Order: sequence, then structure tokens, then C-alpha cells
Amino acid sequence: MSVFLHVAFAPERRRRRIFFLLVLALVLPALSDAPAFAEARAKYVFLMIGDGMAEGQRIAAERFAAGERAASGIKERRLAMNALPVQGVCATHDADGRVTDSAAAATALACGRKTTTGRLAVDPEGLTLPTITQLARSAGMKVGIVSSVTLDDATPAAFYAHSVSRSAYYDIALQIPGSGVDYFAGGGLRRPTGPKKDRPDAFGPIRDAGYRVTATREEFDRLHAASGRVFAVLRPSPFDIDRTNDGISLAGFTAKGIELLDNPKGFFLMVEGGKIDLACHANDAATAVRETIAFDDAVRVAYDFYRKHPRETLVVVLGDHETGGMSVDAATAAETLFSVLRRQKNSYVRFSSTVETYVRTHDARTARFGDVADDLAAFFGFRFPAGVAEGRGTAGGITLDETDVRELKAAFAQSVTGMRGRKAGKEMYRTYSEYEPLTVAATKILGRKAGIGWTTFVHTGAPMPVSAVGAGQELFRGSNDNTDVHAKLRAAMGL
Ligand SMILES: [Zn+2]
Repeated sequence: MSVFLHVAFAPERRRRRIFFLLVLALVLPALSDAPAFAEARAKYVFLMIGDGMAEGQRIAAERFAAGERAASGIKERRLAMNALPVQGVCATHDADGRVTDSAAAATALACGRKTTTGRLAVDPEGLTLPTITQLARSAGMKVGIVSSVTLDDATPAAFYAHSVSRSAYYDIALQIPGSGVDYFAGGGLRRPTGPKKDRPDAFGPIRDAGYRVTATREEFDRLHAASGRVFAVLRPSPFDIDRTNDGISLAGFTAKGIELLDNPKGFFLMVEGGKIDLACHANDAATAVRETIAFDDAVRVAYDFYRKHPRETLVVVLGDHETGGMSVDAATAAETLFSVLRRQKNSYVRFSSTVETYVRTHDARTARFGDVADDLAAFFGFRFPAGVAEGRGTAGGITLDETDVRELKAAFAQSVTGMRGRKAGKEMYRTYSEYEPLTVAATKILGRKAGIGWTTFVHTGAPMPVSAVGAGQELFRGSNDNTDVHAKLRAAMGL
């Protein structure tokens, strides 16, 4: 206080000098902090997006994984993302203030601007927005885009393409050659020859632009730091629950990304767990938790890299929106209950095709519920009560009660009609959406036994958890908007 009084009443010249000294006193510590700040610049950045993944998905996956790990004697029970030091939340609404789709959500993360449904890196007026990947490239960083869905899908596409329509898959694919992205990996392209399959193959210009396209596990394994630009495709790209040993996991794609992108100027790697969303749309809890765990395995790969370069690495993990209104009944869902999800052997997609094969050769007169009882038992570990389907089922399986059986039979009757979606009528649509009815009933029953509930087949506006570790981690603590995440990434990266 006395200093300020002194300044206020000192003669003009002295006042200026004191003022100068005061300013210097304020500036000097800031200058001496400068090297520390420079050290904290995030040079290796992982943005990891679980599509459709919010609190429910993360808790369910953690409980399930904890049970699995306990059974195999592993001490670490938490998901890597749930254990990161900084946790925040993130709002996800789109430019209209409504529940977002993946395109608008990815645009907010990639470009820092809200847009309307279906748009990729363009604003509501259709104006092209610069992406964080472009900015990272301009700063000399290498860039990678990895997804477990196709690379022309909304989330990955918003990081390299600009389009007023997320379903313009062919046009999006044609933006790959000029994108400058160094490493693409994941599910390939959805429409490489256009919607009518009559256009030149998009892989032509991709190869011409210098991308090495790999389509097998062997080719992928042979890639190394000097391989140049890479477009690594895995076809078919199954759910993790259906994956065979020769398939490449999201963690595998992430690890290879690090190997190919690591360079003195740093990199930006976006990794999407794109199928959590698909499983949640179908209300298939077992597939959703396994997808979430597969995504978390990729987070673990990024975290291991962070541990080697803690001052220069930033890992940010979040979802783009929630799907399904997935909830976990914390009061009753003990680990033992979660273990019932282990009974499900394959995804809803596999079971649907089994039912559809049956339905093709049967009609309402010839179809018998007993015919599919063995399949239900084999896929979901169900055991039927005495008097139903001759009490068949997996030994030691999950015993169904009368309500469960009634639900399955009602769904089977709908399956047999072969009518799906809106055509089947409003009530059926509300119950089964576009999905194969018996499959929906079976996955929902299994989920219920694990204490998991669903409120919808579409997206919800639930806030997203945001987790972070590394250079700039504190920026992500507390409450965020999805556009803030973009701004904070740039601040951490010095872009
Ligand atoms: Zn979705």
C-alpha cells in the first residue's frame, strides 16, 4: 500500500521511474518462467475420442474389465482413461442447441466451432473452417488419423475433409490425397467407387499421392518409420468381440502410428473408438463394454508413450456425445453381475444374421421358437426354464424368468415377419428401432441381468467426461464446451 501512496505523491519524473521499476518487477518473473512454459508445450498430442462414450459406458467397461482382471490375477483394475490425473466434463450440443451427431461434434473438436448436423469442418453457413490437423501440419508436426470405423466416417473425416454432408463418402475420400495427413489407419473406405459404384476407385488418387496402402496384417506389420505416408486398411473391420487373432486392434493401430509419426517436430494423433456408438445404438451392452475396453487399450498405449516423454506429451480422452442413454445400476451391479456379459460370445451383428438366415427359410406357420433356443443359449449363455424350449440352454447359464421368455417370444414373432424399422409400425419401431427384434430383446435382457439400462436407440445430450494427462493437462479440468477442447489443445500445442 505504502509503495502505491509513494508513487501517487512522488514528483512526475520519479513517479515514472518507480512505475518503470514496478512494471519490470511484474515482467521479470514472467520472463524467468518463460523457459518452463516452453518446456510445457505439448509436442506429442493424442486426441482420443470414444464415439458415443460417456460416463455410463466408461463405468460399465471399468466394472466389466475389473471382473475379468480379478479373474486372471491382474492388480490394475481401473481403465487407463478413468485413472488419468485430470478429469473434467464437456457439453456437446450442436449449433442449434440440440443433441449433436458425430459430424457436428467432431467439427467442434477439430475446428473449435459449433455447426449443424451432418457438417464436416464447415460452419452453419457452409464456410470452410481450418482444422487442428491443418494447423499442426503448418507448424511442422506430423499428423495421424486412426479409427475403428471407416476413415470416411464423420469423426475421422472432420479432421481432414470439408463437406456440407457427412454422407458424401466418395467426395470425402477424394479429399484424402490432398490432406497431407501422414498416417491413416482403420476401417478403410465405405464407398471407394461412389454411391453407385460407377466412379474411379478412390484408392487410385490415394496411391498416386504417395500413400502406401496396406490391406493385410503382414503388410501392416512390415511398416516402419521410413515407410512414408501410409493408408492402412483392415477389411472387414469387425467389432472387438468378434475379432480374430489376425485382426489388428485399435491399440495396434495406435502403436504403429507412434512408430511412424515420431519425429523431432512432434505429432498430432487422433484416435477414434468408433464402434462404441454402433453397439450403443443397438443397445448391446456386452459389445459396447468390449469396444470401450479396446479403446482404453489404445489410451494405454498413448499413456505409455506419455510416461517416456512426460514433459512434452499431452493425452486428452473424451467422447463426442453419448449414445443409448446407457446407465449403470450402481446400487446392485456388483462385479459378479457384470460377469454375465462375458457369456455373450459375439456382437449383435453376428446374432442378427443367424436369425435372418433362419427367417429366410421359415414363415409364421413353420417358425418355432424352440428352433432358435439353442442359438440364443450359445450366443448369450441363456438357460431356459423348465417347460420352455424343453428347458434347453448352456449348463450353468443365466436362467431366464417368465418375463424374459415372454419378451423373447414376442420379439421372435416380429423377427419372423421380417418387417423392420418404421415399416413394422410405430410401436415396433419404438421397441426395436431398425434392428433385428430377437437380437434387441436378447441383448437387452442380458444387459438388464448386468444392471445396465438403456433409454433410447439414438444419441443423448448427457455431458461427456474429459480426461487428460501431460503438458497442459490442467486446462481440461472442470467444465468445458466441446469447442473449448479445441481451443485448449491449441493453447497447449502453441498453435
Ligand atoms: Zn451415433
